[in-house]
Order: sequence, then C-alpha cells, then structure tokens
Amino acid sequence: LNGASLTAAVVDDLVQYFPMCMRQLHTTLRRDKHLLHNGRLQYNLFLKGVGLNVDEALTFWRKAFSRIDDDEFQKKYRYNVRHAYGLEGTRRNYKPMSCQQILTERRPAANQVHGCPYREMAVENLVVGLGTMSVSDKDVIRHVREDIEARKYHVACSRVFEHIHAKELKREREASGGSGRLAENIIHPNEYFTRSFILKN
Ligand code: SF4
Repeated sequence: LNGASLTAAVVDDLVQYFPMCMRQLHTTLRRDKHLLHNGRLQYNLFLKGVGLNVDEALTFWRKAFSRIDDDEFQKKYRYNVRHAYGLEGTRRNYKPMSCQQILTERRPAANQVHGCPYREMAVENLVVGLGTMSVSDKDVIRHVREDIEARKYHVACSRVFEHIHAKELKREREASGGSGRLAENIIHPNEYFTRSFILKN
C-alpha cells in the first residue's frame, strides 16, 4: 500500500484485493496482451491510486503489451500513461475514477471490458465471474441478481465484498464492536482495494 515501494511486478499479487471491474481489466490484459483505450484509462488510473508511480506504470504497461516492440509502445502508448499522471498535454493530474464515473461515463461497447461489470455484463457471465472470486453461495448470488435488477450496482459490489471478507469483518466486529458489515456501500474501486488489503493483511 505504500506507493514508494510498489513495483509493477507485484500487481499480479494484488489482484486478489481488486473489485470485479479491475479484475476483469487485468485478466483481459494478461490474456490479450492488450487493452483498448478506455480500459487502459480506467485501469491505469486505478493502479495509480493503488500506488504505482509513473515509472512503474510505464514498466507495467510496457511488459503487459508483450506482442509489440519498444518503438511501437513509445509511439502509441507511452503518452497516455504519462498523461494520466499529469506529465503530458494539459498536465492535469487525473484522479482514479469513482464507481459513479465508471458506471455512467464512456459506457463500453460489446468488445470492451471497461465499465462496471455489475451493470454491463450479462447476468450469466457475471455469475461465472463471481465464481472466479470464490462467490458461489446461492443466497448471495440471488441477492446480487436482485440488486442488479433494482439497478443498485454498487450495492451488489458491496454485497460481494462483504461475502468475500465475511471472516475478516466478523473478526473486526469482535475486536471493535463493528457491525460485521461494511459501514457504507463501496463507491470507489480504490476504496474497495484499500479496505480489502487492510482486512486481509
Ligand atoms: Fe468496480 Fe464500483 Fe462496479 Fe464495484 S461497483 S465493480 S468497484 S465500478
């Protein structure tokens, strides 16, 4: 969690603490050795929030795009990675996107995997995705379906978080008298990550 010591090499180890939107981007990046523009934007800013500095981010993306050579990377992708860090163009230091932004801005087309999966994915595929996060409890899945039908996507995400961290939240409740649930729904992917990392470590 300390940005000063976070390297590109540890990102794979951190995916277990990521919300589904970022897991999906990471898995696609590893599978395709590529990610389309809006996915790169969403994931790059998230990783910046996790603590990758610009040099580590460039290392991460350069290695991830393993099917292209250095020259192509420099020409096509380096600028956008640096842009997100406020080092190019208007030099605006962009913040990681909130759930609200991810849910409403730049909605993904059929071939794109950015956005919020609770909103964008067909429910059957979402259930498969939940399985990869070790969420197979029938009641949880039923409630997630109901949340999605009610268009409460971040409630679904928070419910999944609570299920995955049930043991740790229980321990927290016993230690400090918390409710054993999240005090508030997840509204930011980086908040999901930080909360998960702290609970699990
Ligand atoms: Fe990501 Fe937010 Fe959707 Fe959860 S609710 S998957 S953190 S965008």
